Amino acid sequence: MAYPKITLPIRQLEARYLSGESVNSLARSFGVSSYVVRTRLEEHGVRLRSLSESLRGRVFSSEWKAKISAGLRGRRLSAESRAKIGAANRGNIPWARGRSKASGDPMMANIGCAGRKHWNWKGGVSDAKNRFRMSSAYLQWRREIFIRDNWTCQDCNARSTSGKRVWLNAHHLISFALRPDLALELSNGITLCKMCHRRRHAAQPCNS
Ligand SMILES: [Zn+2]
Ligand SMILES: [Zn+2]
Repeated sequence: MAYPKITLPIRQLEARYLSGESVNSLARSFGVSSYVVRTRLEEHGVRLRSLSESLRGRVFSSEWKAKISAGLRGRRLSAESRAKIGAANRGNIPWARGRSKASGDPMMANIGCAGRKHWNWKGGVSDAKNRFRMSSAYLQWRREIFIRDNWTCQDCNARSTSGKRVWLNAHHLISFALRPDLALELSNGITLCKMCHRRRHAAQPCNS
């Protein structure tokens, strides 16, 4: 199943974005959603500005600030709004609920040593592989692998049920590092649960 892909003049898009034009303004100008613009830029390896970066240097007039603060003063959500938000969130289980690092939960294993505290932190540089994993092409590849394998771990047959969640990964049989050209081949992907994925990597530590 392939989704039709909206193509944009990427050179022009990139040049305009890098010269400071916003994603929203580009989206308006090309008549597409900002999601499409963001995805195309990311696929092309353009680092997107964070919200604080895009706001940097912007001066809010004191009149403007006074308006915002007056608008928010004494703000209470109506009972109706709160009920709506509650209903929308019902059934959401915060992923960390009931988990603790002390109990040896593997999901919590790297809490406190992730990100910039991690020994392998590369200074926030998004390398080719990270960019790839953010791309819609990759997400679509992963989805197709899961569909083909019926959301079931191909090593241990684990599958999510209503009582038990199984975290699935799409593993590259031949690693991205070795053969980036095979990264989107369906025959090069396999669905594994997190544990089996880890086991495969322990056997072949440099694979991905
Ligand atoms: Zn498994
Ligand atoms: Zn893997």
